[in-house]
Amino acid sequence: MQPGLTSILDQQRDFFATGATLPLAFRITQLKQLKSLLMTHEAEIANALKRDLNKAPTEAIFNEVLLVIKEINFALKQLHKWMRPKKVRTPFFLWPGRSEIRAEPYGSVLIMGPWNYPFMLIMLPLIGAISAGNCAVVKPSEMATCTEKLIVQLIKDYFTPGFIAAVTGGPDETQQLLREKFDYIFFTGSAAVGKIVMEAAARQLIPVTLELGGKSPCIVDKTADLDFAARRIIWAKTVNAGQTCIAPDYLYVHHSCKQTLIEKLQHAIQQFYSNDPKTSTSYGRIINQKHFSRLARLMQAGKTLSGGDRQEEALYIAPTLIDEITWNDPIMQEEIFGPLLPILTYDHIDEVIRNIKCQHKPLALYLFTRDRDSEKKILEQLSFGGGCVNDCMVQIANIHLPFGGVGQSGMGHYHGQYSFDLFSHHKSIYRKRLPFDARLEYPPYTSKKLWWIRQLLKL
Ligand code: NAD
Repeated sequence: MQPGLTSILDQQRDFFATGATLPLAFRITQLKQLKSLLMTHEAEIANALKRDLNKAPTEAIFNEVLLVIKEINFALKQLHKWMRPKKVRTPFFLWPGRSEIRAEPYGSVLIMGPWNYPFMLIMLPLIGAISAGNCAVVKPSEMATCTEKLIVQLIKDYFTPGFIAAVTGGPDETQQLLREKFDYIFFTGSAAVGKIVMEAAARQLIPVTLELGGKSPCIVDKTADLDFAARRIIWAKTVNAGQTCIAPDYLYVHHSCKQTLIEKLQHAIQQFYSNDPKTSTSYGRIINQKHFSRLARLMQAGKTLSGGDRQEEALYIAPTLIDEITWNDPIMQEEIFGPLLPILTYDHIDEVIRNIKCQHKPLALYLFTRDRDSEKKILEQLSFGGGCVNDCMVQIANIHLPFGGVGQSGMGHYHGQYSFDLFSHHKSIYRKRLPFDARLEYPPYTSKKLWWIRQLLKL
């Protein structure tokens, strides 16, 4: 942990109190500063991600730099509109008057990130925090050590700590951070730590957003385009070696097309990463020993159809398809967060709905089908953070869609304007135009006044 956290927070409170973060011009300048950080240091960012997760530079730059720049550009263009007070209707009984909603920043916000997209998942919420006029303390994951070090250095070089600061540390330091009186906490990570964060926030009534994970199903029915589905599923399951919160966690496939789909999945793995994925420069590695051992334990269930190869010292696990799995196997009891794809089969879509309903609400759900009735049923009857029909993961790339979980997969959502709204308090204002006073609400209360109130409320 950086020494002087209290002093950083004092500086941020003082700075925030000056009102310096309020004008549009200030926020625009700071967003441009963040954009320049990203554009100038693209190569260093890609290099840090290569060392932490063996991310291929193309993948790292696309996911963790370009998507972030796209989000900044959108904010730069739209911010003046988002900041404008929004006029809303005023009911007749409040005439003559006007009503509006003003977005105001909370103050100093804490942003804590995970290790799987360690750069992007600090920067994306930071865009929202800056756009909304807040100061921020960011804490990157201690597990992605090279990226953590780089973030600390870059934040120090590009911002003053009284506005944005980066601190470091693991569980103990996080506990210490959570004792501070932030004005908002934004946490991305596991449900287990999410509960700790929320409990600590509740003690001081600090509002929180929790971006968590879970088991995201991918359903393939017999009407699906299997070639296309196989490519999309394998890409989504193996990018960053499966360590993606919205990756399909398990496959739920209609028994009649299971065999064909498996062959196509195997073909896609071979096309993307060759017969020996550990030699592919496009394939990532598991973050650390602890997660490697966890995944090795999960691989023991069922029958391995392909892959299964692993090397502990290299933290390498091949893309692995696993058959003969039941809901009681350990691999179906926790989020996999790795390149293992268990395959379940079904006979009727109602069975799928029933079984998924018994699980926690997932962060994402994917459905491959050409059957409109199945699609309608799934979308209407299952609750999940967000998802795709006939694709995987790309819901995250649409800036107009809110991103977030529901239930155990999280609370609150961000991206695009939703990020601005999330980091803003929406203040309701009613402005009286004339000192008109109907005097109906004043004592003494009479039945005649009640009669008039009913007329005015039209009740
Ligand atoms: P994690 O919850 O294990 O750790 C997150 C951070 O919390 C750590 O860096 C650590 O500093 C802190 N921490 C850990 N234990 C703690 C404790 N006991 N007390 C206080 N702080 C503690 O998450 P992770 O391993 O970094 O990330 C993986 C999880 O994040 C997965 O569940 C994944 O689905 C989820 N995730 C969600 C999203 C999303 O956008 N919804 C994105 C990426 C990852």
